[in-house]
Amino acid sequence: MALRLDPYPTKIVCIGKNYVEHAKEMGADVPSEPLMFLKPPSTLIRAGEEILVPPGVGKVDFEGEVAFRVGRRASRVREQDALGYLSDVLPLNDVTARDLQKRDGQWSRAKGFDTFCPVGEPVPLKGVDLATLRIQTRVNGELKQDGAFADAVFQIPFLVAFISRIMTLEPGDIITTGTPSGIGPIVPWDEVEIAIPGVGSVKNPVRAGAGEPWPYAVGASAS
Ligand code: MG
Repeated sequence: MALRLDPYPTKIVCIGKNYVEHAKEMGADVPSEPLMFLKPPSTLIRAGEEILVPPGVGKVDFEGEVAFRVGRRASRVREQDALGYLSDVLPLNDVTARDLQKRDGQWSRAKGFDTFCPVGEPVPLKGVDLATLRIQTRVNGELKQDGAFADAVFQIPFLVAFISRIMTLEPGDIITTGTPSGIGPIVPWDEVEIAIPGVGSVKNPVRAGAGEPWPYAVGASAS
């Protein structure tokens, strides 16, 4: 089944620590402004494809999130107009190499490995009631996250207005809105599913990445 990502995104814009309980479990406060980062589109995979844990990368966590596709070019849009620039909603797994995230301080490596962004099929936003959406994560069938999208600190209209004051959003771009509490590790041979009940889900097997052991770990010889 082909993932309907046409046009293909130029960027995946992510928001960190956007739920109070998740920020708490990370030992942090919710930022006073949205905390933005990017995942490269090369992270994208569809349902059924393998999340590959690179050798020696340390702990890898799931993060179930409600994501949106941009439907038309958005630059400096107003919050009250923002939803009109979005076309679809979709479940997204913001897979994160947690040890590397802490070590690096910025998140491009930890969030940017190939296969680290499973997404479900986009569902037209029209007809979806954002006020009642939930985001649920199951690992091997066991419920790990069950959060109300309404609990997100910065809501999607504000995020579109905020982000589009920084970078032009192109049709196909993906905005993901942060994860609720309950994040945890995934390891090879797990199966992880992110679901937005009534919208869709994305389920992926986790496998060990092939190849040489991680060659650039801290402490490894540079010679
Ligand atoms: Mg996230």
